Amino acid sequence: MKTRVIGLTGGIGSGKSTMAKYFASLGVPVYIADDEAKKILLEPQTVKEIAEVFGDEVMVNGLPDRKKLAAVVFNSPEKLSVLNSIIHPKVREDFRKWVDNHSNEKFVIKEAAILFESGSYKECDDIILVTAPQDIRVQRVMQRDNVTREEVLSRMDNQWDDQKKAALSSYIINNINLNDAKKKADEIFKLLKDW
Ligand code: ADP
Repeated sequence: MKTRVIGLTGGIGSGKSTMAKYFASLGVPVYIADDEAKKILLEPQTVKEIAEVFGDEVMVNGLPDRKKLAAVVFNSPEKLSVLNSIIHPKVREDFRKWVDNHSNEKFVIKEAAILFESGSYKECDDIILVTAPQDIRVQRVMQRDNVTREEVLSRMDNQWDDQKKAALSSYIINNINLNDAKKKADEIFKLLKDW
């Protein structure tokens, strides 16, 4: 039987990484797309392509620097789309191989911050959305990343709002109280296990 791919996403500060770790603790194989993208950024073929397109401006000691890249693409949708066209297909391919390596599993989880924005939700069989009110999310990220409210809000600007995401999601974990969120995750885990 085909391994089902469950996307796990949520706006910044919703607690999707926290929930991804919780599902992993239940024994679910979890692919963290952001972590894999960071590794892929440093692979020789990627380094070559990034150097060709963006030049020395984004390199530190011969490797692409994430902060410099972010600064270059921040105000340029065109440059962001070029960067995405280098990274996204490589992550997609890496994910496909990872799923093949888990072909004995009933389901696996792919955690991605931009699951909807990147269009990769279309390749998922079901989607779990993690939500929390915006003011709580802002507080969490200010504490976690030691950044200002304005910086958090500007990162939120590029993300779809929850209403749009909820319409395309099969399961929603409202993560205000962590124990309640874990209980909801347990219910979803059971449903997916018994699918
Ligand atoms: P995301 O991956 O969606 O950006 P995280 O899982 O990193 O969010 O959570 C953001 C911050 O809020 C982290 O420091 C995390 O420990 C904390 N956090 C997550 N869920 C809760 C919760 N229910 N109550 C309190 N703090 C939480």
